Amino acid sequence: MASQQPHHPAHHNSFPATFRSVKSTPRHNTLPATSNLRHGVRDPSHDLDGFFTETFSLAKLETLQKHFWLAGARRPASPLHQHLFLGRRVVITERLDMHLLWESDGLVYIKPLPRYLLEPGTWSRYLTCAPSCACSTSSAKCSTKTRREIALGFLYSYACLISYESDFELALNSEVAGARLLPFRSDEDGTSWAAWKVIVSDLLATLETEDVHARFLHAELRLSRLNKVHRVTQWPLFQPYNRRSHSYGDLFRNNMTWLATSTIFIALVLTAMQVGMGTPQLAEDEAFLNASFGFTVFSIVGPLGVVALVFVAGVYNLLVEVPRLVRSSLSKAKAGKMRRGVEAGDDVEGSGQGKAVLGGEQPAAQQRKSMFTQRVQTSSAWQRSFEAGTEAGPTGVYGGPGAVPT
Ligand SMILES: [Zn+2]
Repeated sequence: MASQQPHHPAHHNSFPATFRSVKSTPRHNTLPATSNLRHGVRDPSHDLDGFFTETFSLAKLETLQKHFWLAGARRPASPLHQHLFLGRRVVITERLDMHLLWESDGLVYIKPLPRYLLEPGTWSRYLTCAPSCACSTSSAKCSTKTRREIALGFLYSYACLISYESDFELALNSEVAGARLLPFRSDEDGTSWAAWKVIVSDLLATLETEDVHARFLHAELRLSRLNKVHRVTQWPLFQPYNRRSHSYGDLFRNNMTWLATSTIFIALVLTAMQVGMGTPQLAEDEAFLNASFGFTVFSIVGPLGVVALVFVAGVYNLLVEVPRLVRSSLSKAKAGKMRRGVEAGDDVEGSGQGKAVLGGEQPAAQQRKSMFTQRVQTSSAWQRSFEAGTEAGPTGVYGGPGAVPT
């Protein structure tokens, strides 16, 4: 990264040469099948702007940004082979705010590089500000600029992860993480590796520190630290950044593990104190007797207090969860009622003003059906043209269909 060069306002609009193209939309087959599974299944191609806003958002992680120094060093991420060398197991995540977080039990979460991020259309249309945007002349930050910083940061993290040809081969081996991390296929003559090197070289030639979101200037972040910071700095309190235990059994089991470890240490200290009291030097020592008294009381009350705290934490989680579940269930019931109302309205419209509807607008259900059919026909026509090679492709390394080494 050319971090030493002075920053020019125009730099945020410069981007890797590989992604400069006149093509204005990403190709259909590079997008996921559905998006936003948490709030309802949607076809991302129906709202590409919304999809990219959602995908390149680190809203939850940004709340902990000033505490990143506690969770990870400010340096480039380690190459993939180094993670395996350290005995870490790579687990796929599609959440960008979980990308390159690692757990103390040896898991490291990595988001595979999506195919659409190597599409020039994605960059030129959705990740580049308009020339008239206020952020090109001032230090103001628009939503596209933030989205772009996150996307560039994510791509930069891949430039760090895939440094050597061995990293590249590991990323293409689906046995390493359960799926390929890069949208390439391995080949004998090294074409894919050469293409990857062009992408990285273009990226590093144009990238400034200011162009990258602050999260990606830190290497891997330790998830347990983020959880601790989140528990004490975010509301509601005591909620981790990411919960791995999803049942109360897990909550008690996880806490009992470290309680059992502490009990062994307490038992060792108590035994040593007992031995100490048998010696003439310590048996009469008032300070030692006071310390022994204090520690004995602590060893009885401490573990009981921890068990009580874990129990309180379980009840607290339940109290936090229940209102949310009730709210979600009520809003779903309300949405269902509204939908039934609309459908009943369709029927009334159909029976009462039947002639007018037939002559003018179609009933809603029929309209939905025809929209669906139209979409299927459009996508299959598009697919046929793509297969025949008539779909206009991007220029540059990814020049036209078939040029992407898949
Ligand atoms: Zn802008």
